[in-house]
Amino acid sequence: MRNYATQMEAARKGIVTKELETVAKKERMTVEELMTLVASGKVAICANKNHACIDPEGVGSMLKTKINVNLGVSRDCKDYNVEMEKVMEAVNMGAHAIMDLSSHGDTVPFRRKLTHECPAMIGTVPVYDSVIHYQRDLDTLTARDFIDVIRLHAQDGVDFVTLHCGITRKTIEQVKKHKRKMNIVSRGGSLVFAWMCMTGEENPFYEYYDEILDICREYDVTISLGDACRPGCLADATDVCQIEELVRLGELTKRAWEKDVQVMVEGPGHMPMDQIAANMKVQQSICQGAPFYVLGPLVTDIAPGYDHITSAIGGAIAAASGAAFLCYVTPAEHLALPNVEDVKQGIIASKIAAHAADIAKGVRGAREIDDQMADARKALDWEAQWACSIDPETAKRIREERKPEHEDTCSMCGKFCAVRSMNKALAGEHIDIL
Ligand code: SF4
Repeated sequence: MRNYATQMEAARKGIVTKELETVAKKERMTVEELMTLVASGKVAICANKNHACIDPEGVGSMLKTKINVNLGVSRDCKDYNVEMEKVMEAVNMGAHAIMDLSSHGDTVPFRRKLTHECPAMIGTVPVYDSVIHYQRDLDTLTARDFIDVIRLHAQDGVDFVTLHCGITRKTIEQVKKHKRKMNIVSRGGSLVFAWMCMTGEENPFYEYYDEILDICREYDVTISLGDACRPGCLADATDVCQIEELVRLGELTKRAWEKDVQVMVEGPGHMPMDQIAANMKVQQSICQGAPFYVLGPLVTDIAPGYDHITSAIGGAIAAASGAAFLCYVTPAEHLALPNVEDVKQGIIASKIAAHAADIAKGVRGAREIDDQMADARKALDWEAQWACSIDPETAKRIREERKPEHEDTCSMCGKFCAVRSMNKALAGEHIDIL
């Protein structure tokens, strides 16, 4: 019988949960160090009490940067088996979280399958599911309907929910007045905005926030405070709408922590490189160090088909500057629902960004694997190089396709191999080039 409601409450009471113990081990921290961070809200351990098979992870700027993979069926791509295949592939490739963004059909079995079989953190956006769950148009839904869906997701074992609590009726005026180039590009944010416009009512996720906190506390669901006003193009980055919402998210973070509810704060979006570090600092200051979960940032708007690269560049800068959690972006972003290969490319790009950032911010042990790779390269030990690779399959395939004349080098320089020449020169050996 647990004598605490949430991981945050346990940490504040000095109770060492098995999840906290596991995360401390993974992060090479002492239990005491991690407990202080969880108690203060700087680390969230997103672990719903009903997600029995979870392999817990901590999310916080001083921990290893985590990556999330968005999946789920849509009206045009509705095969749940294919989606489950992508989930397992994503987990095998190292995704720490799966967000189920399904927006078609009966969403319950897939969600339950995830929380019964998937060890990664599971996140959802209940506002999408509300329309599907009730099979009614948006403007006929009530605040009660939205809250009941949050409860359903909590009961099903979802570890974190994105809730767009930070926009209010004032935001409607601001969006109209400031004339953003891309208005609102957050799918959930646009639904909440549209609902407010059609009903004339206040944002239910803001108005009934205390009731939502009680649900999240009961099941230990972490709230991922959605950034409805995240910039959808470079021109909208760091504008009044984005910052005004962030200030409200800071207030909501504090209110959640008062009830021991764990929080992450979502962030941009599309953003020029020179604005990213400053945005991370402002978020950390306004939201008192709550883990920042960034959706990109994409550093240019003109690379459809390559947005896994535009976002990896931004993600690396963001994570090195304090972001804790990167939402992957695939080559299909802005174009289509990603297929298995897109998912793979998105994960690899995010993993590179996260790892590069971890090295830069000095996460414990992060660089060890790079040092091992350097040793393997110096020894021209190809098997050892595959063992250190983020994507050994691709690395191996490229080498296999263009085999070198001499096995110890590669076909890039052959006998002009600098590594080989230096090894031989330093060993006092003759270097045969011709
Ligand atoms: S041949 Fe050139 S690229 Fe290949 S391992 Fe040697 S130095 Fe590196």
